[in-house]
Amino acid sequence: MRGQIDAFTYDALPARVVMGAGKCNEAAAEAARMGCTRPFVVTTRDQAALGEEIANLFDRTSDSRFAEAAMHTPWGVTQRALGAAQRSGADCVIAIGGGSSTGLSKAIALRTKLPQIVLPTTYAGSEMTPIIGETRDEQKHTQRTLEVLPEVVIYDGELTLSLPVALSVASGLNAIAHAVEALYAADANPVTSLMAEEGIAALAESLPRIVQSPRSVEARRLAQYGAWLCETCLGAVGMGLHHKICHVLGGTFDLAHAQTHAVMIPHVVAYNAHAASSAMTRIARALGARHAWTGLYELGVELDAPRSLRALGMPEAGIDRAMELIMKNTCSNPRAPDVRALGHMPRQALEGLPPEPMD
Ligand code: NAD
Repeated sequence: MRGQIDAFTYDALPARVVMGAGKCNEAAAEAARMGCTRPFVVTTRDQAALGEEIANLFDRTSDSRFAEAAMHTPWGVTQRALGAAQRSGADCVIAIGGGSSTGLSKAIALRTKLPQIVLPTTYAGSEMTPIIGETRDEQKHTQRTLEVLPEVVIYDGELTLSLPVALSVASGLNAIAHAVEALYAADANPVTSLMAEEGIAALAESLPRIVQSPRSVEARRLAQYGAWLCETCLGAVGMGLHHKICHVLGGTFDLAHAQTHAVMIPHVVAYNAHAASSAMTRIARALGARHAWTGLYELGVELDAPRSLRALGMPEAGIDRAMELIMKNTCSNPRAPDVRALGHMPRQALEGLPPEPMD
């Protein structure tokens, strides 16, 4: 029995996704499909050599590498990249890396209209969203526009083999958090919910295998598949209270992005438990757990993921300030923000204690 299907709206985003080990070698063929032959290749400094390898797949020599991508897409870096892209005469952008490289690629595409090919090497998922966050005058400005959505994404599990285990775990749990919030989003729909449940299950299966065998291509491919599904949900529906809390904590206390998500997600799920029962059933089923919140917390324990905000650098004295900021702007969430219950949550998370379902 499928039960009742509620009314819904689903905006499918255009994306060509190519997945498989060794598929990074098809970057030039993918560019050619779009009529492009001269890529502007962007990476972080750490991943410059990988960028060079991909650039060498193309049949031309020119100065078209830019290895200065940085977290939160600083405007100064984008300005330099725009100048270099124009001088190079590039006809497309190729980003190799995590959200930092993709963010820069999106910033270039927004201003030049160049098509993009992204080869992700983390599970951050920016490649599947029409969202860009840029930092200018110390302020982060976020906008949603289809102009930044990459035309082609190549998921090659081999590119993630070098991602350190701790970063893989945090990045994977961050992806799970996107799928969790998609399941109880106000604009949730049957398609994203299917993807969300499958994405959580794929990551819950692959992350423990990555911890055991970080160089398992099979586990890495499964994790990328799960991340792709979770990030497609992020691109398609709105996020709720968990994202709001992580945004405030990260922005105000400079806490690491993916790690903050990893700590907070079981707590926010416990907070929402009674207000989103069908989402909770699906999350628990994907995790093979009795309850969604205990399943998420136990997965974190199994992966030795960050569980304490204090360990990430959160000062106890900052909790009241964080609460003020969280309560200030509303967000869509199945349960309305309640100061008393919300205040309890970061205190539990501060010490890495298990979540408690809150009435
Ligand atoms: P990142 O891209 O900054 O990567 C972190 C570090 O890991 C970098 O030094 C990078 O060079 C290195 N690295 C990446 N992949 C590696 C690999 N396979 N092996 C070894 N080292 C590797 O971090 P991230 O977490 O992927 O992305 C975070 C950024 O993405 C933030 O700026 C965030 O705001 C943004 N983001 C945007 C969206 C969106 O939809 N716009 C979504 C998610 C994240």
